[in-house]
Parts: sequence; structure tokens; C-alpha cells
Amino acid sequence: MGDVFDFDEDGLSSEFEKNARIDDAEQGTEAPFSAGSDTDGQGVQFFQKFQSGGVVSVGPIGQRLGTSYKVQIDEFYDAENLDSRSNSTNGPVTNEKPKSITRRKPKIQDFEQLKVLGKGSYGKVLLVKHRKTGKLYAQKQLQKASMIVNAKNYEQTLTERTILKKVTHPNIVKLYYALQDFDKVYLILEYLDGGELFHYLREERILSEKVACFYVAELILALRHLHINAGVIYRDLKPENCMLNSRGHLVLTDFGLSKASGECRSLFGTAEYMAPEVIRGEPYDSQCDWWSLGAVMYDMLTGSPPFTGNNHKRIMDKILKQKVQYPFYLSQDAKDLLRRLLNKNPAKRINCDTEFETVRKYRFFRYINWDDLEAQNDDKLPPPILPVITDPEEAENFDEEFTSMAITPPSSPIGESLFETIEQSRSTSTSSFIPIQRPDPENSNDLKKSVYFTGFSYTNETLLPR
Ligand code: AMP
Repeated sequence: MGDVFDFDEDGLSSEFEKNARIDDAEQGTEAPFSAGSDTDGQGVQFFQKFQSGGVVSVGPIGQRLGTSYKVQIDEFYDAENLDSRSNSTNGPVTNEKPKSITRRKPKIQDFEQLKVLGKGSYGKVLLVKHRKTGKLYAQKQLQKASMIVNAKNYEQTLTERTILKKVTHPNIVKLYYALQDFDKVYLILEYLDGGELFHYLREERILSEKVACFYVAELILALRHLHINAGVIYRDLKPENCMLNSRGHLVLTDFGLSKASGECRSLFGTAEYMAPEVIRGEPYDSQCDWWSLGAVMYDMLTGSPPFTGNNHKRIMDKILKQKVQYPFYLSQDAKDLLRRLLNKNPAKRINCDTEFETVRKYRFFRYINWDDLEAQNDDKLPPPILPVITDPEEAENFDEEFTSMAITPPSSPIGESLFETIEQSRSTSTSSFIPIQRPDPENSNDLKKSVYFTGFSYTNETLLPR
């Protein structure tokens, strides 16, 4: 790999906190965060640092810019050192080695890039292999330069990281690490080697009701978990975000547009699957996900979403004004559930969170034993499609259009002119960063500039082997 750079994260964070003012009122609570354009136009005056303790206000934007911190290249964080450092102030000094597992902080160079799996809203998703363990992961990456040009990109990555960090469910993609180097931020995710569910749908054209009910039921479990246990509205349910793992279970991915709050107003999602209340710009809540589930279920059973058109405006107009047409070949059971989900009035739409006991008894789900489904008891309730995976490294369930792509080498750090636009583009952002610079090894008079996003890096200890 070319341009590799490690941050002294502890050093940067303490520099950052030097000038910080702790907001007493918020101390000890999880900082609220906003996604995407929900903060648009409000001209946020202070950066806020999101950390476990609470919100730290760090002063007006102008005061934060222009300060550069020297950063040691090649210094890495060592969990053991960190433990012993904190022990020394908290208790008696002993010669005994701490019993905790020593884990070097992962670096992006620990992962070998194998293939391109797909392209998302903010960049390529790569198949990567951990050099030591051989374990495969999906790596999402975003250029820091693109975040500076469009601060929303960063908000989406931060949202995805923050939500996935607090969600653990078998039907929701697992986040293992969030990393950053000099020019990119990375999310290292569970590799879903079965590919997109709709890769299979496009091959088959439509799914039978017996097959579709399994995936609709797994989607209900995932969305209920998000709504009830994580307080998150998914907002972007669409076929491309439904993937299969190697056992054939549906796993929800792409949390960049999700929102952790009860009510929102912003226009978010993908036109064909967007609920009417979202399009109307009314305040909406998690009911919008049940509409989208109806649209995805309709797509599974008929081969296309309920409203289509050659531009977004047309599609949205139809969603607001036209009645859903149900093809003759759909069973009464399927139409019954679709009508309850695709109700344009969110107050009258079925709520699979509060009415779950009713939903699970619908005839459409007669093939599903919900206890076996929740327990993923494949002997009693096998997933209907078992992906063919002869070699997971070959990514054979992904489009050749992507897997045959050349992996582009890491790009160079942020250019001078881009760096200078930070001040303007950051005016609507709530994320915090520290400008940093390091000498260019090829030209010692020259300085390369980057930004260090505070509170971004993360290791999911619960998923790592003990
Ligand atoms: P996204 O940025 O989440 O929209 O992802 C873009 C594409 O990358 C998806 O449509 C998938 O084909 C692929 N992809 C995303 N996440 C994963 C994952 N965890 N495992 C395998 N492929 C993925």
C-alpha cells in the first residue's frame, strides 16, 4: 500500500480537549446526533465532540481552524500500554502483567484488499482479508477529501458507524472496526458472501409466497429490533440493502440514512420505496419503514415496486395519488398483508412493532415458526435459498461488473485548495475534527494536510475472539 499514516489518537484527543468546555447539562448522557440534512440551514456554530462521557463544546468554528498538531507517524496504540497507564493512577503499582488480552489497535494495512464487491452512495465496498487471521470482511471506505467537499458524506459515515456500534442482531450487518488513515475513513463490516437478495430475484423474476414470507419475516425482526431496542428509523429499506449471509439469512446493510430519533422531517430514502408522509414533508416516524417493507414485499412477489416511473417526481406523484394495483396472481393472504402495509395514512398502517402478536398470526406467515426464525434454527426452518459459495474469496455472488474492477491504489492526501474549503463546508456540520499535517517524505519543506475525525475510530471487542 502506498500512503499509510497512523494517528496518535490519544495525543490528538487530549490536544482537542485542552480547549474544550464540558457541557454539564449533557454530561453522562449519550450525545444526540443528527444525520444528513436534518441540520441543514441551521448554521451550527459549535463543533460537538461525541464521546462516551457526553457532549464537549469546543468553541466557534473559526477558533478551531488553522491549528495544526504534530502527529507521530508509525506510532500505534497498544491496549496493554493503555491499561498500564491508566492503572498507575488508579491503584497500587504491581509488577504483574495485566491479565487482559493484548490487542494492538488494528490498522488499515492489516487488511489485504482482494476485490471490489459493489459501489454505494459514498464509494466502493471492497472484499478484504485480515492478513494474520485470514478472516474476510467487507470494507467501506470514504475519501476524506470528499467529506470536505460534501460534509453530508461524513455525517452518513458517522451515522452508520454510530448506529451499527450499538446494534447487535443476526439480521443486521455487524461492524467490526471503524478506522482512519491519512486520506480515508473505513468501516470494516461482516462480509455477506451470499450477495444481494435481489440478485436472486432478478434471476428468478419473482419469488413464490412461500420463499418471500421468510425474508419478509426476517425483515420484520430486523426492523423491530432497530425501532424498539435501538430507537432507530431505518429510512432506506430497498432491495439493494437486503443481503444474504452464507447460510442464506437476510442481513440488512447500509445505515447511512438511518436516524436515531422518534420523529423526522427530511426527505430521505429511495423514491420507489419511500412512504407518502416522507414525500409530503410531514413529520414522520418509524411507520415509514413499514410502508417500505410493503413496497419491498410487493417487489419480491411481482418483480417491481408498486409505483414506478422514469423520474423521481413521477414516482413520488404516483405514491401520493395513485391506488396500489394488485395483480390477479397474488393470493388473498399476500394482498391482505400488502394492503395493511401500503396504507397511505401512517396512523392506519399496520405497526409491526406494537401489533406484532397480530402480524405473526397472519396467514401469509403460515409457513413461519417465529421462534425457530428468531433462533435461526436452520434444521427446523431452513432459509429458502442457500447461496452457492465454492470459494468466499472469489465473491461469486457479486456482479462481475464490480468484481472484475481494478482496485484503485490509495489516493494522495487532501490538497491545499480543498483543505481551505473546510471552513465554509463545515458550517452545517456537527462533527468534530482536528486539522493535522505531516511533512511530505519526498519534499521535507512541503507539508501534507489532512483532518483527524475525533471519536470515529472504534473496535468492536464483543465480536473479537477472546
Ligand atoms: P452500500 O454502500 O452499503 O450501499 O453498498 C454498496 C454495495 O456493496 C452493496 O449493494 C453490496 O453489493 C456491497 N456490500 C455492501 N455491504 C456489504 C457487506 N457487508 N458484505 C458484502 N457486500 C456488501
